[in-house]
Amino acid sequence: MTQTRFSRMRMSITAAAVAVATGAAVLSAVTTAPASAAPAAGTSLAGKTVFLDPGHQGSAAGHNLSQQVVDGRGGKKDCQTTGATAVNGTPEHTINWEVAQLVKAGLESQGARVVLSRPDDTGWGGCVDERAAAASRSGAAIAVSLHADSTTTGTDATKKGFHMIVPTLPIPDATVNAVQSGEGRKASTVMRDAFVRAGFPTANYAGVVDGIQTRPDIAAVNLTKVPAVFIEMGNLSNPADAAALTGKDGQLKYSMAITEGIVNYAKGAAAASTTPSPQNLGAAPAPEATPQAGDGELSAVLPFVQKLLGTSDPAEIGQLLLTDGQDASAQVLNAMLVVLYGLFDGKLPIG
Ligand SMILES: [Zn+2]
Repeated sequence: MTQTRFSRMRMSITAAAVAVATGAAVLSAVTTAPASAAPAAGTSLAGKTVFLDPGHQGSAAGHNLSQQVVDGRGGKKDCQTTGATAVNGTPEHTINWEVAQLVKAGLESQGARVVLSRPDDTGWGGCVDERAAAASRSGAAIAVSLHADSTTTGTDATKKGFHMIVPTLPIPDATVNAVQSGEGRKASTVMRDAFVRAGFPTANYAGVVDGIQTRPDIAAVNLTKVPAVFIEMGNLSNPADAAALTGKDGQLKYSMAITEGIVNYAKGAAAASTTPSPQNLGAAPAPEATPQAGDGELSAVLPFVQKLLGTSDPAEIGQLLLTDGQDASAQVLNAMLVVLYGLFDGKLPIG
């Protein structure tokens, strides 16, 4: 979109966000509310820590990427890699960083403490084993690594879609094996389901089955002692995937899916530690820890967000808020609005 349209949209959506946050349901408030009011925080992740690892780094900053570190399988591997580059020229590390910032905003709006593996997208971010150790130390309920794949240095129009990488079992370290074979697998499945509900296609390459790929060589998972999810969001060699992963509305959609996956996993983990609900007894064995989409989940507002992003007309936005917006629960809407703030103001309102 043009810069003019983008600016207009930003103003409209900021105003709309304030209107929702303050409960205003009249069109005059949509166009005149001050842009400084921030949405109230939710509590669905209160007391939880989430570790986010935007893959790779802005620069090696004098570090040796091929320094050999432990791989969690009794061998060694390179400390780091530079990551992929999208067909449109955007480096993977920047995509990972930008999506992570949106996810961080959404999680913090729900009361989570978010620990990042690296402080910025310009400097160094640590070897893979150091990041795994940081994730374990953080005591996170879940650690999520964000990556985007590449299938060729050129353009690949046929291979597309997302996948979660899970470790080949067993993992030599008994603690890691117990965590990743149980909660890690569960969290990866919940995240896969969130991506599917958000409308992202599962990868059609690399032996991916239903959005899951099993591999032995991901140190981030082999060494992490909290439940780990390793996401390949899409294929940067594919023009459509690359456009979605580098565009603002596409990044919003990815961040909403990831935030939803984390919230759903945390909710499922909490439910699993209490008495199972009657409707879960005798349910199909497959995704028993996977909550169904409902009013309180981000997927419920994704179509609404897409509609908001699709218009710059304040009257139309006002109408959307009076109709579709009424279906969204307050906490979910607040999470969405904080994400929108971060996206359209070009900076994060919190953290
Ligand atoms: Zn990567």
